[in-house]
Amino acid sequence: MDIPSAWLEAGASAIEVVRALRSRQHKAYLVGGCVRDLLLDTIPHDFDVATSARPKQIISLFGPRRARRVGRRFPIVLVRAGERGAAPVEVTTFRGEGSRVDSSANGQIRRDISYGSLRQDVLRRDLSINALYLDLDQGCVFDHVDGIEDIQQGLIRIIGDPPLRLREDPVRLLRCVRFAARLELDFAAETRAALDGSGMLLRAVSPARLYDEFYKTLAHDRWECAWELLLELDALRHAFPMLAAALNDPSSGQGALLETALEALAESSDRLRGARRQILFYAAVLWGALERALAAAGRDAPGDRSDALGDVGLLLLQQLSVNIRVPEPHRARMLNLWRLQGRLEARVEPHHTVAASSFDDALALLGWRIRAGMIEDAGRLHFWRSQQRPSPSETRRRRNWDGSEEEERRSGERSGHRRERRRHGRRRRS
Ligand code: ATP
Ligand code: MG
Repeated sequence: MDIPSAWLEAGASAIEVVRALRSRQHKAYLVGGCVRDLLLDTIPHDFDVATSARPKQIISLFGPRRARRVGRRFPIVLVRAGERGAAPVEVTTFRGEGSRVDSSANGQIRRDISYGSLRQDVLRRDLSINALYLDLDQGCVFDHVDGIEDIQQGLIRIIGDPPLRLREDPVRLLRCVRFAARLELDFAAETRAALDGSGMLLRAVSPARLYDEFYKTLAHDRWECAWELLLELDALRHAFPMLAAALNDPSSGQGALLETALEALAESSDRLRGARRQILFYAAVLWGALERALAAAGRDAPGDRSDALGDVGLLLLQQLSVNIRVPEPHRARMLNLWRLQGRLEARVEPHHTVAASSFDDALALLGWRIRAGMIEDAGRLHFWRSQQRPSPSETRRRRNWDGSEEEERRSGERSGHRRERRRHGRRRRS
């Protein structure tokens, strides 16, 4: 098969890992989303490797400085390869069905360290479209679950018995939503039947994992489809009761803020990545709940609310952590964003405030709240922009990101096209 050079370039580190493993007579393949994306003619954002080598063998091949074992539920080895600074490659050993699987009373798999063959590994993967293995030497794809046909037919199909696979790992429900939305695919009938009514399983997902998975479900270009599916499957109130409660109160403006934030994040995916993006996402997603908590605590008096936002925000995150746990470094930065809202609202200490490391993102959040009708502009955006002293090369980026009028108009036009594409996508599938 012909592999586009852009795909090979993007996967250079993972390809290096596969070649090194193969040179030691281990079986090694590129697997999962990167092969799916190759067949869909898109460039993946990460490349995963599956191998017959055991974690110890992988670490001894690459050395402990380049390879380290991670993964709580099953072992993954992160290998540094390719150019300096390239993202590490996730290498997993073929999983088997063995006896070393530790399940909870409700069937959820907590730990799984049984190893097996490629054919067994296939059955442990979530979806047929994600269970394709690319053999780089032979230039062919191993497909034991008709994943290629499902890609051609535009179908998401859970491998094995869908209700059982969802009970084993309820995060798979969110993954089904994410891929159906992102790749514009439909659910196979048995998969859809199992997804309906499975939302409550999400209550058992570990709070740390949910923090990442809920974000990945929505933070992409086709978030509107993902959102519709979350509602259709009645998954939101189980995954994120605090957000569902804020959305149930139409006067909170949280619905409009969520829409504004997701649209802006989708627009900025090339500029804003990683932790910064995720923190801003949750700072906006939780804003309605924070305002409610502030009112309940009687700390929403006008003026500089930064202390109140910080104090109540901290309590809110602690309360939330039984459901979704914000990791410690993200927590401090999120609280900072919230505190800065108080300063921006009240135009406090401009020099000091503008110098804050998260000023740009705080201003973006303020802009979204204004656009969502949660707070009046009253000249605030103009005031803070006039305080900024960006270098000429930064001007465009900053303006664009904090939503200046000129750029708002332009991004509005782009959003229009996107929305049209999304609607078109849904129509095509129905
Ligand atoms: P993306 O484009 O978002 O990276 P992906 O399919 O590569 O999509 P990853 O989270 O990178 O998703 O996972 C890599 C592969 O690992 C998947 O394609 C799938 O085969 C397997 N996998 C990941 N999560 C699960 C899960 N919860 N259950 C079973 N298999 C999984
Ligand atoms: Mg991937």
